[in-house]
Amino acid sequence: MSRLAIDAGGTWLRYEVVGQKSLCGRVSSKDVDLWQFISSMLEKEPDIDAVAVSFAGQVHEGEIISAPNIKVKERELQTLAETLYGIPLKIENDLNCAALAESVYWNEKELVAIYSGTGLGAGIVSRGEILHGWRSLAGEIGHIPYKEAPFTCGCGKRNCIELYASGSGLQKWMREYGCKGEPDLSRLRESLKSECREIAKMYEEALLHAVATAVTLLNPKAVVLGGGVVEHNPYLVEVVRRDIANVALKPSCEALEIRMSEIEDASLEGAKLLLDTITYEL
Ligand SMILES: [Zn+2]
Repeated sequence: MSRLAIDAGGTWLRYEVVGQKSLCGRVSSKDVDLWQFISSMLEKEPDIDAVAVSFAGQVHEGEIISAPNIKVKERELQTLAETLYGIPLKIENDLNCAALAESVYWNEKELVAIYSGTGLGAGIVSRGEILHGWRSLAGEIGHIPYKEAPFTCGCGKRNCIELYASGSGLQKWMREYGCKGEPDLSRLRESLKSECREIAKMYEEALLHAVATAVTLLNPKAVVLGGGVVEHNPYLVEVVRRDIANVALKPSCEALEIRMSEIEDASLEGAKLLLDTITYEL
């Protein structure tokens, strides 16, 4: 039998069929509805007997609560898979999946994964398990209050740390300060224009503040940094390592490991780990 793992992100639906047959690929998230994609895979590959989805949006107890960038008409995928195909389906927020994958990769049960890409998000693993919170909203680190910005976050507030420590935040500040070109940190740091250098500095400070908040609040053994902005600017890991003890609670920083993610698609790897936890008792 085979099992299907999907990473449903804002740009791509990446998938991998694991088991007797192995195949993988990706389709544009804009072109296909998530449930339609899953059901077409189940029709095409009838030996698939379990599905796990890493989802870039809020998920609570198997149900999709919000889907900002993904086409999803049906929100109760778990029920649909069970009633229409008689197979189990697990769905989990993408950063939770990524944190789970990082936890297994680094063999660390107390870990926070903080990813800065288009947005700023976190997944928390404590005692080897994902920390969900009451309504599965734990880890929304991008929306912790920071400093008032001259523009609004996707959540409706103007003081979210994501407005400073994310790719979309960089773009907003560049527009505000009249900095041209790609939102690239190393380019901004070396710019002749002081406003552009200031944007890079604000990003570094905000990322450090976000990590320090997570470290102080959650006391992880390891923090793994990832996401597009960090991948393109690995020096950020050094900045956080160097300065974390100046910002976070000192005892929380003792023996703390700050690492750079080494997993190519941590969310998809996390979905594959979810498949391992599926029990067949429908
Ligand atoms: Zn926000």
